[in-house]
Amino acid sequence: MTPSAVLQDIPVLAADIGGTKILVALVRGNKVLTSRLLPTLRDAGPVEWMSALHEVAIQWRGEFDCVGVTVSGQVESGVWKSVNPATLSVGKPFDIAASLSRIGAHFEVLNDAQSAAWGEHIYGAGQGSDLVYLTVSTGLGGGIVCNGKLLQGQRGLAGHFGLVSQNLTASDGGAEPFEDLATGRWIANQALTETGIEHSSKSVFENAREGKAWARRIVSTSALRVAKLCRDISFVIDPPMIVIGGGIGLAEGFVAEIERHLNELIPNHNIDILTSVLREKAGIVGIAAIAAQSHIHQERNMQ
Ligand code: ADP
Repeated sequence: MTPSAVLQDIPVLAADIGGTKILVALVRGNKVLTSRLLPTLRDAGPVEWMSALHEVAIQWRGEFDCVGVTVSGQVESGVWKSVNPATLSVGKPFDIAASLSRIGAHFEVLNDAQSAAWGEHIYGAGQGSDLVYLTVSTGLGGGIVCNGKLLQGQRGLAGHFGLVSQNLTASDGGAEPFEDLATGRWIANQALTETGIEHSSKSVFENAREGKAWARRIVSTSALRVAKLCRDISFVIDPPMIVIGGGIGLAEGFVAEIERHLNELIPNHNIDILTSVLREKAGIVGIAAIAAQSHIHQERNMQ
């Protein structure tokens, strides 16, 4: 039996807590059996977000064998920390493991883009291949699968490409993280600056498709910056592919725009830039696979 066939047997309660939305689902293998989409009430904080998850867990009690939760930010030994509070602030470090233990099932918790990278590796664009995954969303996260293993790093930080400095020569040390200059928040802020009117990033993309010069400029600048990041990643990791997901990454035309810029930055490059196959499910499918695998190990050890 292939590993994925074993994983298909385990129903998992999976949740993805991002800067804009919380997706809670029952997942079996790469199949989402049912799901709930909730807004992330950013000011409410992790206790409230977790109680929303607990409510769903109570409603679905008996329907899952284990739990997988994936979050925006750093997860170190079961403690959740914001790396860039502008993307999502959890306030002081939050013991998410203690909160999840109250559900009463075996659980795993991990950074969202790392989980998505694993999802794409097992079931998505990678299908067993090494890859780098980038989620271009409220912020920008990443995950690295190298030699068939998910790289989590010493403190759960591996793949936080959105946190790299955007300007190494800046006098302040380039403290402003890259993600503050390319993602959903930047696009919306830039649109407000350019037009004086509030626009969501979705509306900026719609205006760009309608040919509005200001919107095309914003989308193109964001894609150019992500293309430069892809170039840098190719020099550091040299992955066979970079898979792009997230609300901005999946917006129509964005990956093509990254490719166009990359072709100008490095003519004749052979970096495959692919759109996420699992799309908005990448995080929950990835964490479900990790939780199911770990549940199988735990059951075997108890026999
Ligand atoms: P999260 O950051 O919570 O994981 P997403 O990956 O959906 O959530 O990213 C949210 C960002 O993507 C927001 O800035 C949102 O406005 C933007 N977004 C979502 N859908 C679209 C779309 N169709 N076109 C452009 N931007 C989008």
